[in-house]
Amino acid sequence: MILKTQAIVLRMVPFSETSRIVTWFTADHGRLTTIVKGSQRHKSPFLGQYDLFYTCELLFYLRLHQGVHIVKECSPLKTRPALRSRWRATACASYFSHLVARISPPYAPHPQLFRLLNTALDALADSQNFETCLYWFELKLMAAMGVAPQLNECLKCKRPLNAMKDRSCPDEVSGKPACCLPLPLFSCVRGGVLCGVCAGSSGDKLEKIAPDVLNLMRFWQQARTWSSARISRCSPRQFREVERILGMFLQYHLEVSLVSRDLALEVVQHRTVLPASP
Ligand SMILES: [Zn+2]
Repeated sequence: MILKTQAIVLRMVPFSETSRIVTWFTADHGRLTTIVKGSQRHKSPFLGQYDLFYTCELLFYLRLHQGVHIVKECSPLKTRPALRSRWRATACASYFSHLVARISPPYAPHPQLFRLLNTALDALADSQNFETCLYWFELKLMAAMGVAPQLNECLKCKRPLNAMKDRSCPDEVSGKPACCLPLPLFSCVRGGVLCGVCAGSSGDKLEKIAPDVLNLMRFWQQARTWSSARISRCSPRQFREVERILGMFLQYHLEVSLVSRDLALEVVQHRTVLPASP
């Protein structure tokens, strides 16, 4: 059976001198692996038709019992050349692809995750706000996977935490100004924030989360599009706190702790000296 779908290249490895194994994240079938036979030959019709981070239209022979399908035709819809020439964008795109490959089981369609990856790769190709884009992508990915951290209300007493926007506002439960209450704390195990009152009686291991960082994460989580999320401006302290909290959350709830995340952050935070662009 021949199937047609849109697909993003996640990974490519040589299979022989002339063929490649390509892992895709597809719009209709989730993650799948194909062989592209003869793609490295001089006159192959596949030359230039696919590469890392491309979104392609893919025609393939379904061979479910073999595990590796055969590509019949492939044509690029988005090539995103900036993701192969700008080092910081490349590092982030590699992390995004790696993360999606790790959390998506084969043949499990997830159109929302496909659209998110497609949009996030476009954002990287067209932006300089790499670190913001990375955390925005992680928060949106958690939501797509059903493990979004609860940032709007206390997980225990359901007290709204929007008073954090203005610490002089009265708390809805106690009537006291929010600034008189202990600060909320983040519980990785419970999956979100506990108000300062509940945090005191909880036996959980809790993490500090500054009110401005909580607001920032909530803003990214609620931003409908990357265009609205990208306008935020963050200090290095805010970035470090978000990095730590989201890293722990990913590890606990999606069981991923990827070297590609560390590398991407090292590069976008300018901790690695990069070769000059050509
Ligand atoms: Zn509470």
